[in-house]
Amino acid sequence: MDKSGIIKPVLDASYPMISHGKGIYLYDTDGKRYIDGSSGAITANIGHGVEEIADAMEKQAKQIAFVYRSHFTSAPAERLANKLASLAPGNLNWTFFVNSGSEATETALKVAIQYFQEQGIRTKTKIISRWTSYHGITLGALSMSGHALRRERFSALLEDFPAVAAPYCYHCPLKKTYPGCGLACGNDLERAIQEIGAENIAAFIFEPIVGAAGGAVTPPPGYYEKIKEICDRHNILTIADEVMTGMGRTGKMFAVEHWGIEPDIMTLGKGMSAGYTPMAATMVSDRIINVIRKGSKIVMSGHTFSANPLSAAVCGEVIDYMEKHELVRNAEEQGKKLMASLQDLQKKYPIIGEVRGKGLLCGLELVSDLPTRVPFSATHRVGETLISLCFKNGLVIYPAFGGVTGFEGDSVLISPPLTITSFQIYEMLRILEESMEELMNGLV
Ligand code: PLP
Repeated sequence: MDKSGIIKPVLDASYPMISHGKGIYLYDTDGKRYIDGSSGAITANIGHGVEEIADAMEKQAKQIAFVYRSHFTSAPAERLANKLASLAPGNLNWTFFVNSGSEATETALKVAIQYFQEQGIRTKTKIISRWTSYHGITLGALSMSGHALRRERFSALLEDFPAVAAPYCYHCPLKKTYPGCGLACGNDLERAIQEIGAENIAAFIFEPIVGAAGGAVTPPPGYYEKIKEICDRHNILTIADEVMTGMGRTGKMFAVEHWGIEPDIMTLGKGMSAGYTPMAATMVSDRIINVIRKGSKIVMSGHTFSANPLSAAVCGEVIDYMEKHELVRNAEEQGKKLMASLQDLQKKYPIIGEVRGKGLLCGLELVSDLPTRVPFSATHRVGETLISLCFKNGLVIYPAFGGVTGFEGDSVLISPPLTITSFQIYEMLRILEESMEELMNGLV
């Protein structure tokens, strides 16, 4: 056994070593080609090996790579913050830069609590979230995550923030059917608020489209309008976690735009740097900043690498590249083609229970019995097997397991870079179909 090395996700597993990437393709050191059908972890939005980014990186690194946020600001960080403010909905004009999505949601939690403290309201310290959700792996972010599998080991340290049913129509946690349900999942927030007390709740956090915990679970029409109305009525802030859905992934710059809602706080990560550097952000509205400005004037959070100039220059260039190549429009257009192709696949394979999502955030849910929508037992590892077969055949897709019962539910995400072409979708689908065929042969 090796005496040193990287701690890998599965300790003794062997992972291919990647030598380089170009566009949607990755190449390992044995010369095998993979289609990056999940943009890594829904991150490599502009594809791999983009020279403009490498050039911007080099230029900035030669100029100034690091300054500490409490001593100096930098032109790339200021420019990026202004750019994000010009793109974001509503009055989300202020950005706190961090290094990962987990730090972004954790900062959102702290800012929400601080907003009320600055006004002398000290009881509003809880953040309400939904089951079937993922907001990050650090303890505050995990406290907000409604993901039983990921919480289990650390439950003694976590807050019980998940309190509301997910808007997951395919497996409605409230056993109702849309539209006859009257948006019972939205009303479940009202129930939770009555139980916990609005005076104890600072914010409600949600992924506009549930990613890793459910596989592109998309709420029914009217849901977010209801949520926003309930939160506003109870003086509860809304936090849109756009770490996965933001930066064009769903065919709009931010997924909340699909429903026309303006959150009080919005988190970004993943596609913001498209994977070229670790960078994430918490965007905060005028209303919140004005209160803090009149109070302590200090947002009580921060990291050594916050607002790093090198990372900021990279993210700025990523946005320029997206605009130049109209990648949000491409995500919308190619997303429709991908969705249609996946629906065709669904007709062929009865274990595909649902195809869902928006833009290039697409989910496939596998079920053991189509009419009753019963999931496979977790021990069958059906989703995992499909992912492994795809990997063997040269296509990377992403797991979104445990959405149905917390432990059961085999969904996968298909989320290629936003640069994908129609031919590349065809290429990707051929490998997916070949892998489905192998999966079915193994199941019988
Ligand atoms: N929020 C959402 C919606 C995510 O999907 C993720 C990661 O998958 C996170 C937060 C955490 O981001 P990170 O892995 O960068 O800490």
